[in-house]
Amino acid sequence: MSALLEVSGVSKSFDGFKAIDNLSFSVAEPELRAIIGPNGAGKTTFMDLVTGKTRPDTGSIRYGELSRDLTKLSEAQIARAGIGRKFQKPTVFEDQTVFENLSMALASPRSPWTVLTRRPSMEVRAGEVAERVGLTAHLARRAGVLSHGQKQWLEIGMLLAQEPRLLLVDEPAAGMTSAERERTTEMLVEAAKEHAVVVIEHDMEFVRRLNCRVTVLHEGRALAEGSLDHVCADPRVIDVYLGR
Ligand code: ADP
Repeated sequence: MSALLEVSGVSKSFDGFKAIDNLSFSVAEPELRAIIGPNGAGKTTFMDLVTGKTRPDTGSIRYGELSRDLTKLSEAQIARAGIGRKFQKPTVFEDQTVFENLSMALASPRSPWTVLTRRPSMEVRAGEVAERVGLTAHLARRAGVLSHGQKQWLEIGMLLAQEPRLLLVDEPAAGMTSAERERTTEMLVEAAKEHAVVVIEHDMEFVRRLNCRVTVLHEGRALAEGSLDHVCADPRVIDVYLGR
């Protein structure tokens, strides 16, 4: 498995403060990866750097077979190259139905379905995506009446509809019931069979259920990497989390 995303020696400072400090990180395709770390560790800045919202001071961010340098591309170009990002708060069109929300995503210029002449009907595609995110029974409902968890799933569905190669997901389980968290785990594990999925998460139980490789970020550096059990046994990680 070669890397889909290769971050090498990236640093980013804000007013002299190093939010990301000589960070190297790579993700394969497909792969499920969790990034954990205390507040201020640099998790959001990392996502901003990959999606082109923020530019690194030094280092490179290479992506895909052609090793394109993402630091040279605009946010829109990066999104078109197949990198989708889900922010913590769901942003769906509340007045539109679930079907309409998914249809809009399928019709967006980022979706591969817009360039295929013999593409399946919108109904078929939207139905398939709805099934992947557990919303088949809700297709005709207005997104505004969905539960918080269902809105998160709808947004994940809207991203999946655009067939990303790399999906960055920020704290998907925040504010969810335990049943919703469980369903979200299954959804992300399933999505990561086809795509590279990077999940930022605070909830350790959630990360445990993802059962994937974990990167611990601390003061902008990758402090430890491996299974959750492996990183949790690392004395440096124990220091950071327990302040010993
Ligand atoms: P996390 O998402 O892990 O909580 P962040 O990436 O948001 O961490 O922040 C890392 C550090 O960088 C924090 O100390 C934060 O205050 C600082 N930081 C992030 N963005 C900015 C910015 N635009 N201006 C100044 N400081 C910033």
